[in-house]
Amino acid sequence: MAKFSFSAVGIPKGDRLPTPETVVYMEPDHTWQQELSQSNWTPATLAERLSLPEVRINTMEISAQHFPIRATESYLQRIEVGNTDDPLLRQILPAEEEQQTVKGYSMDPVGDHAAMQPGGLLQKYQGRALLITSTACAIHCRYCFRRDFPYQQHHFEFNQSEAIHYLQSDNTLHEVILSGGDPLVLNDKRLSNLLDQLEKIPHLKTIRFHSRIPVVLPSRITNTLIHRLQQSRLNVVMVIHSNHPNELDQSVATALRQMREAEVTLLNQSVLLKGVNDQTETLRQLSHTLFEIGVLPYYLHLLDRVKGSHHFDLPEQDATALYEQLRSVLPGYLLPRLVREIEGKTSKTTIC
Ligand SMILES: *Cc1c(COP(=O)(O)O)cnc(C)c1O
Ligand code: SF4
Repeated sequence: MAKFSFSAVGIPKGDRLPTPETVVYMEPDHTWQQELSQSNWTPATLAERLSLPEVRINTMEISAQHFPIRATESYLQRIEVGNTDDPLLRQILPAEEEQQTVKGYSMDPVGDHAAMQPGGLLQKYQGRALLITSTACAIHCRYCFRRDFPYQQHHFEFNQSEAIHYLQSDNTLHEVILSGGDPLVLNDKRLSNLLDQLEKIPHLKTIRFHSRIPVVLPSRITNTLIHRLQQSRLNVVMVIHSNHPNELDQSVATALRQMREAEVTLLNQSVLLKGVNDQTETLRQLSHTLFEIGVLPYYLHLLDRVKGSHHFDLPEQDATALYEQLRSVLPGYLLPRLVREIEGKTSKTTIC
């Protein structure tokens, strides 16, 4: 069930946004940065925060050492206290299964290492390149395909210009995707600086963010950020990442509403996850809730088979059966494309 009514969302249509000066005064960056700095948990502190049974803690320890628990307070507030089966909790709770080695699940499931260019750029598809803009995220999703990515070797450095030079020298590129990690972990000043550099490249038309932050840390969507996006000569696309309708509360709706006011195109990608969103009804609701807050479903990804994530994987047959049901209950424009990323292909691969 959606947790808000649309009429109650955000600033009224047509209202003017405050000027940047008042924004700095009203909304210092540290609000979201403070929340971000308090997003690290141990199994014990998380269990205490969410009243989880103690028996679960021991089984979490080793996995949590390997890939630490991270979740914002804003996200935790949408989890039902004491419910170990909560679909949002499952996305952040370390599991014993993560330690198992299963055939077919590897450290680099989509061939990112081979496609890496200098300076944190990844180009696999024509006309668009992806920039590893930041090495950090506001939440650690246990199924993440980049959980073992060697970020320290491959990411954008502000004092180096390799990535910018690459983008300048290839005039077939029209779109840059800021990804990560999460690009919105960067503060407003750094992001603005990066946008300045990209806006100067004449053949670039579109800047696209791939970010889970509007969902898990909506306080990050500061008015300063909104203004900067609004000012850009580039088309701005924000692809958020949400897997379950419970992730979309009033605070998320408000942040997204502000982006819409700034003419940002809003899309969503989800990952199909066993035990989280592998029900037709859940996915139907997700699409409708997204639409209510101004976001169109874009991709529904089959899991990238990264080591330690097999317990989230759904057999492809089950996924296609689920998708056929979904197709029968949604209008075409609310049906995300079911895709898999296959190494070496020139685009994501549509499954059905
Ligand atoms: C997924 C991906 C893209 C974006 O693909 P679209 O189909 O345009 O959404 C671009 N570059 C890389 C490296 C990707 O993995
Ligand atoms: S926010 Fe995205 S990149 Fe970060 S851990 Fe989650 S899935 Fe991975």
